[in-house]
Amino acid sequence: TKSVNPLKKLNNEIFVYVAKKQREIDELRRMEQFRREFLADISHELKTPIFAAQGFIHTLIDGAKDDERVRDKFLQKAAKSLDGLDALVADLLTLSQIEAGEIKMHRERVDLVKVTHEVIEQLEPRANQREIKVKLHTPQDQIFVKADAYRISQALTNLIDNAIKYGRDGGKVNVTFTEDKKDWEIEVKDDGPGIPPEHLNRIFERFYRVEKSRSKEKGGTGLGLAIVKHIVNAHKSKITVMSRVDKGTTFSFKLDKIEEKLAGF
Ligand code: ADP
Repeated sequence: TKSVNPLKKLNNEIFVYVAKKQREIDELRRMEQFRREFLADISHELKTPIFAAQGFIHTLIDGAKDDERVRDKFLQKAAKSLDGLDALVADLLTLSQIEAGEIKMHRERVDLVKVTHEVIEQLEPRANQREIKVKLHTPQDQIFVKADAYRISQALTNLIDNAIKYGRDGGKVNVTFTEDKKDWEIEVKDDGPGIPPEHLNRIFERFYRVEKSRSKEKGGTGLGLAIVKHIVNAHKSKITVMSRVDKGTTFSFKLDKIEEKLAGF
């Protein structure tokens, strides 16, 4: 038998140990950098609506309040900025909780049709404002999937809300369910301006916007798709996007199917 050189063995163990520690340090550095960048992004994003609201309110105090028309306009603008701030803080909280792994997905039997109807109903007023028709195409009245109902409704809300926000006036948003062997595919499709190909692989990054001013004007936080991606991934699925400029955009993902078995029959 071959004798093992004890010194060589020890040397090997030290090498493995050091390599492991190095990996841990690299991971910590990566997280630290991520945290630092995230904080810088957040500060920047928070400042924008705060400065805007501050500006309107100070201008009102400095005299603009005496003109009724100006006063109404500025109050509305200040309120809009604060609404944006509210949405941003809510999205930030969700994103940071999901990223920190604090939010556990409770995957249970969920009726996808029911959840989607509720989401569409909630967004109807916004769609009506722009005369956009949101339609659900489902082959069945009930579809059972294994999912976290609240999180899936949040993901659908973000996708359908985007389709309405960035869609064209009088356009169509189609939500379609397609059955596969083991899962259901969910598709949210609009006929809006689309997303240029060079932006497509970045839109899921936090705070990434194709047109910054357009997104802000529409009340976007830049976090919607980052949240969708996390939620879909937590369901062991992948979000995909297909888009053609001037034709429209389609987002899709899959959820595990639950077969309806009639017990006893
Ligand atoms: P936001 O809060 O800005 O909407 P999101 O993360 O939801 O942030 O989306 C990121 C960017 O992707 C948006 O700013 C927009 O430019 C683009 N986008 C998202 N959905 C669509 C869509 N359906 N059609 C066109 N552009 C879209």
